[in-house]
Amino acid sequence: MIAKGMKDLVAGSSVIRAMFEEGKRLAEKYGEENVFDFSLGNPSVNPPDEIKQSIIDILNEVDQNTIHGYMNNSGFEEVRSTIAEHLNRRFGTSFHSKNLIMTVGAAGGLNVILKSLLDPEDEVIVFAPFFGEYRNYVMNFNGRLVVIPPDTDTFMPNIMEFEKMISPKTKAVIINTPNNPTGVVYDEKVIHKLAEVMEKKQKVYGTDIYLISDEPYRELVYDNTEVPYLTKYYANTIIAYSYSKSLSLPGERIGYLVIPDEAADFENVSAAANAANRTLGFVNAPSLIQLAVGRCPDAKADVGIYNKNRCLLLEHLERYGYECVHPDGAFYLFVKALEKDEFSFADKAKKYNLLVVPGTSFGCPGYVRIAYCVSYDKIKRSLPYFEKLYKEYYSG
Ligand code: PLP
Repeated sequence: MIAKGMKDLVAGSSVIRAMFEEGKRLAEKYGEENVFDFSLGNPSVNPPDEIKQSIIDILNEVDQNTIHGYMNNSGFEEVRSTIAEHLNRRFGTSFHSKNLIMTVGAAGGLNVILKSLLDPEDEVIVFAPFFGEYRNYVMNFNGRLVVIPPDTDTFMPNIMEFEKMISPKTKAVIINTPNNPTGVVYDEKVIHKLAEVMEKKQKVYGTDIYLISDEPYRELVYDNTEVPYLTKYYANTIIAYSYSKSLSLPGERIGYLVIPDEAADFENVSAAANAANRTLGFVNAPSLIQLAVGRCPDAKADVGIYNKNRCLLLEHLERYGYECVHPDGAFYLFVKALEKDEFSFADKAKKYNLLVVPGTSFGCPGYVRIAYCVSYDKIKRSLPYFEKLYKEYYSG
């Protein structure tokens, strides 16, 4: 018999699983090309050629035991040094290899840092809408997720509510910008306010409150939008970075944590994160792809392709009458459902073979998420169906 705690998890997972199965069923019935599956954040852009070439070069040049062997739990020293230098050049920081731990994607990094920080019943604050997996990551370590309700005017963090909800039990705050599911980027003003509130509360309660910045979409921004580098605004910041989206490598499972010297209790947090990487069973991040990303710190997938998709979808959906959150980054469009119950709206969309994710998964009912990391052609062919769906509600 499975553990009691897993029963809800399995039941919850089946919603996404059901959507996946539904997509497959529709594809069999109507043909893959006639099903518009906008449910998954799986990058459609190819990884940069440099990555492929680096993998080939590494296999030809580097000693086999180095490529495929065990290593330090935090990853290859030279890879961490290269990334630290790269970050220092880009953001004016002063990291060293000791500040980095290579992880199994952002998901691995978040689990490692939450295991390192949380005692049972410690609170972790998130701002709705948020990546639904945070619920599970926090539950893994018996923490309590505290959700700040969405500000549906701006989709920026609701600072007043935030200030009210921080308690002596608050151990961490997770933010994700550019955001999944809205594509919104938190600007400098918002970051300053967040930092100010957290500094104040740390003093009032005499506690350490860590800001965890979940950054898989950092490089996916449009119109030269700046994404502030969080460690410069709040000393107690930990970055969970991922190459899944920036280099289109989600299956390779590679990312890193940055724990700056300035983070509270740096030595212990860093040692705990190394131990957590091992005891959670990751042991170390996959070695070949670690070496590959270390060889191409400046590589980037072609964001122009997502930008074209973004413009096409946004322009047409707004023209039909949909209310959309304007995304400055990531590859998601968050759209107001045409009825209060977004599950019923998503069901109606399915009649047109349009698969979208209900906002409740992200703590924001009344909206749906459209992942536009699909081909331009697919978006183009889906547009008449979005128009028909709109007209089903507002035909007069
Ligand atoms: N955080 C957010 C906001 C995401 O959207 C995702 C994946 O979609 C992840 C974390 C997990 O990413 P990774 O593949 O790096 O584990």
